Amino acid sequence: MAKVYLTGAGPGDIELLTLKAHRVITEADVIIYDRLANPEMLEMAKSGCEFVYVGKEDGRHTLPQDEINEVIYQNALKHENVVRLKGGDPFVFGRGGEEGAYLKERGVAFEIIPGITSAISVPAYAGIPVTHRGVAVSFRVVTGHESPNKKESQIPWNNFKTNDTIIFLMGLHNLGKISSKLQEIGKPKDFPCAVISRGTTSEQSVVVGTLENIVERAKDVPTPALIVVGEVVKLREQLEWFNT
Ligand code: SAH
Repeated sequence: MAKVYLTGAGPGDIELLTLKAHRVITEADVIIYDRLANPEMLEMAKSGCEFVYVGKEDGRHTLPQDEINEVIYQNALKHENVVRLKGGDPFVFGRGGEEGAYLKERGVAFEIIPGITSAISVPAYAGIPVTHRGVAVSFRVVTGHESPNKKESQIPWNNFKTNDTIIFLMGLHNLGKISSKLQEIGKPKDFPCAVISRGTTSEQSVVVGTLENIVERAKDVPTPALIVVGEVVKLREQLEWFNT
């Protein structure tokens, strides 16, 4: 009976893979992976394991999600151990829920293997704790994909007036609009923020600034990158530790 493992690959640093993810990768008959899963992980697979890439290549768009669902399902009909390897955690903007539901509807067994999400670990490698006593008592992980100017936005911008740390994923292309929107709801223009690119890898880069100057400072930053907004960003001065 086939089983699909919807597996989190962590944020990039290969050692941030869980033991469970490591085990299923070594046992896999096929690994279906995308752009954010560190390709070095594929070297852990047994010989004869097949690899199916469903990410972005040469400017082409990622396969549409319904096609990815079908690729996973078709592989489950052919193989015993199917690993669907996804960057970070499969349920944090990873569309793992849609993949699981698709399989369940078709009677295919699956397991979810949570991964270390970039939302927390990438700031950590930049020396930025997402909560800190006396500075931030909670944090929010928000999609930056949706334009803040969109009518009927699903994002509760007015709730961001608090001191929560806000982490935007998939938001680099909207950085200017996000920083304007946060100033519109009342955050000061010198409010701290950071853009962290390729976090936890040897290519990690960190740009620190304010809502006013971050767009200019981060203009050449490569993807994947996330945005951290909050007073916690200042703690990097004391906590920076990772040298690439
Ligand atoms: N499931 C993933 C997130 C998928 S959305 C997770 O839990 O981490 C993809 C977004 O994640 C990217 O646009 C970027 O904002 C962020 N991201 C993933 N890996 C990253 C990395 N190594 N450094 C910076 N941002 C990263």
